[in-house]
Amino acid sequence: MQTKNLDEIKRELTSIISAVKIRIDMEKRFGVDTITLSKSNKVASLSLPNTVTQIKTIETPDAKKSIGKKITMSAVAANGYLPDDVLKTSGDQTSMREKERKIKLLEELRGEMLACHKCPLGKTRTNLVFGVGDPMAKLMFVGEAPGRDEDIQGEPFVGRAGQLLTKIIEAIGIKRSDVYIANVLKCRPPENRNPLPEEIVLCMPYLIKQIELIQPKVLCALGTFAAQTLLSTKAPVGTLRGKFHEYKGIPMMVTYHPAYLLRNPNDKVKVWDDMKKVRDFLGELSEKDPKNIQN
Ligand code: URA
Repeated sequence: MQTKNLDEIKRELTSIISAVKIRIDMEKRFGVDTITLSKSNKVASLSLPNTVTQIKTIETPDAKKSIGKKITMSAVAANGYLPDDVLKTSGDQTSMREKERKIKLLEELRGEMLACHKCPLGKTRTNLVFGVGDPMAKLMFVGEAPGRDEDIQGEPFVGRAGQLLTKIIEAIGIKRSDVYIANVLKCRPPENRNPLPEEIVLCMPYLIKQIELIQPKVLCALGTFAAQTLLSTKAPVGTLRGKFHEYKGIPMMVTYHPAYLLRNPNDKVKVWDDMKKVRDFLGELSEKDPKNIQN
């Protein structure tokens, strides 16, 4: 039989409790408010050894290499959201004109895409899924392709994965309407199959144009297709995630796709870790550049 010093047991229990607290906090931020307990032993589905291992993964060398530093608490507004200066370019006359210019150009681009039938998806789609959000956004998310709900509503990320994405965005103190969201493909692949290489090649110029127009300060690629396409790599998302890469000089975080998270909820902790780096990076930007301060 194993004997243990009481202080040692106390230390272990304290670290388990603190790991569980961190995990519960993260689940709450992602909108989870109940946990199913198994009937046999009443052990929560957040099993303790798993929790402890995952909490450890937060402290990977990648996390230390992160460009961003901790955001100051004073940067978080009383309503729990990051203040506008962290998220948007100033609301003065010049930027109002800039916003109008971007809206106009984005509408022209949408018109071009509506007429696009370069690949067969233009025939099978119900709606074009162009992109949504603030044209002045500093943070832009790129997903894979519209699914059934997006095809019906003509807006990216409105189905189950989309609802999780909204919670992920809100978890770092940002409103969904303050970011910009687009996909690699603008039309739904039948039965939600993976995008074909030729579809990606034909649709990419539209995404490139959207990024050029929005001019985000940070990009976030969601999942394999967005990450591999924007970085021109075949590396798996598991090795790309958690670090800032660069797309044409724009820092780009790679993280798991929300649809993957619905199937693999234990990896939420990694996405939470990735998103904190994005939040901290945005916080640093607004501290460094007074032009980012909104009145
Ligand atoms: N998945 C995506 O990649 N994009 C969407 O718009 C919806 C689900």
